[in-house]
Amino acid sequence: SGGADRELRAPICCILGHVDAGKTKLLDCIRRSNVQGGEAGGITQQIGATYLPVENIRERTSLKPEAAIKVPGLHVIDTPGHQSFSNMRMRGSSLCDVAVVVVDITRGLEKQTIESLDLLKRRNVRFIVALNKVDRLYGWKTCSNAPIAKALKNQSDDVRSEFKWRVTEVVTQLKESGFNAALYYENKKIKEVVNIVPTSAVSAEGIPDLLLLLVRWVPEIMTERLTYVNNVECTVLEVNEEKDFGTTIDVVLINGTLRKGDQIVVCTKLGPVTTNIRYLLTPYPMKELKAKGVYKHHEELKAAQGVKIAARGLQHAIAGTAVTVVKPGDGVEQAEAAAVQEISKVNSLINEDERAESDDRTAVQEISRIQTCREGVYVQASRLGILEAIIEYLKTLSFDIPVSGCNLGAVHKQDVMKATAMLKRNEEYAAILAFDVKVMPEAFDLAAESGVKIFTADTVYKLVDSFTDHIKKLKE
Ligand code: GDP
Ligand code: MG
Repeated sequence: SGGADRELRAPICCILGHVDAGKTKLLDCIRRSNVQGGEAGGITQQIGATYLPVENIRERTSLKPEAAIKVPGLHVIDTPGHQSFSNMRMRGSSLCDVAVVVVDITRGLEKQTIESLDLLKRRNVRFIVALNKVDRLYGWKTCSNAPIAKALKNQSDDVRSEFKWRVTEVVTQLKESGFNAALYYENKKIKEVVNIVPTSAVSAEGIPDLLLLLVRWVPEIMTERLTYVNNVECTVLEVNEEKDFGTTIDVVLINGTLRKGDQIVVCTKLGPVTTNIRYLLTPYPMKELKAKGVYKHHEELKAAQGVKIAARGLQHAIAGTAVTVVKPGDGVEQAEAAAVQEISKVNSLINEDERAESDDRTAVQEISRIQTCREGVYVQASRLGILEAIIEYLKTLSFDIPVSGCNLGAVHKQDVMKATAMLKRNEEYAAILAFDVKVMPEAFDLAAESGVKIFTADTVYKLVDSFTDHIKKLKE
């Protein structure tokens, strides 16, 4: 158009909050058209996300037709069921642009609300508070789909006064969590102060306000981030086994185009995997579902949407990480190196979350459950999930690498001592395969003295390769 306005992409939004605050119900409400029984105009159900075009949002709000909105729509990620958010952890930082934290107005901030807030703070993700269940205030008069100001005008003085003190209470609690917050229509500093939007997911008061705020406030505070670029930007939401396709990844394609056959680099627990897109899939619309099977095949798909990718080697893909497309003529090495960095970043974020949330005892119990052999190598990794993936990978190799012991965290002297047991039993296995962990200097010294070999590498594949090379040399 030649206008000064930049072309922005649709923001990606996720919904967090304490159990029973109304996340699922709010999502249902956002998806529903306010036309009773009518089609939800333009709303498409995608893999793992719902897309609301801006026209739909205009229809549902009192926005004047000439009022400008800078984004084409809004992606809302179906958060509650997603692995990438399991146990309230948002895996990776690139998954969403903005969050809605749902708080039950009758209960205030609860345990998982505070966990969500801590997480958002650590990840530097901006958010809106949906102060939900306003219809539960005693004596509330239903005003379906009304903007909140209009709904409040219709209430008695008693309701309004209860509303007021409950809001004040939540503002105080948010302050205790380190956030300044205000009702969005009283908020004078939208770039700094967290917006609170009162809502009901049952009678939909305040839902127009929430949607409008998302499409107007988000582009305002993150224009740069939403500026369309021609690169492919694509994030893994879930890893799934599919009967007909093997392991698949559900991704949100934020920018660019994916084509069948594209070479991609995926972050997995074992390191980067370079593979080719075998199938590009989206779900059929409900009507066509029975005749043609569950998924529709595509030659190419454009952003922004949810897509299921089938390809080889996706078994250990990590939710929340980026997928890179290797352009013809480009070297894969660069993409793989970037993936190594991303994996290590995600690992340290998950480590941080796990430390923040659970004690070490459970991990120790889990480790003791891992089956080990009398003769075998010693494996050490930063996290339980990776450790298990490595051990599983060792089992799939054509030559057998048994495991005699394992541990989490940095390699210490004690670990080397344990590995020295193999010097007498089977010298080949007097080795520590260490992935994504530090090796302490004393451990190195002891290993050198005793003859235990310590292997490290930035991917599990390289780690195992260097060990098998070593074995081959021993046998020569
Ligand atoms: P989630 O665990 O956060 O996903 O919460 P749900 O969406 O499953 O809601 C928990 C319960 O609260 C359900 O019984 C909902 O019907 C109810 N609920 C959710 N939102 C509202 C609301 O705005 N008003 C009222 N009255 N009930 C709600
Ligand atoms: Mg739910």
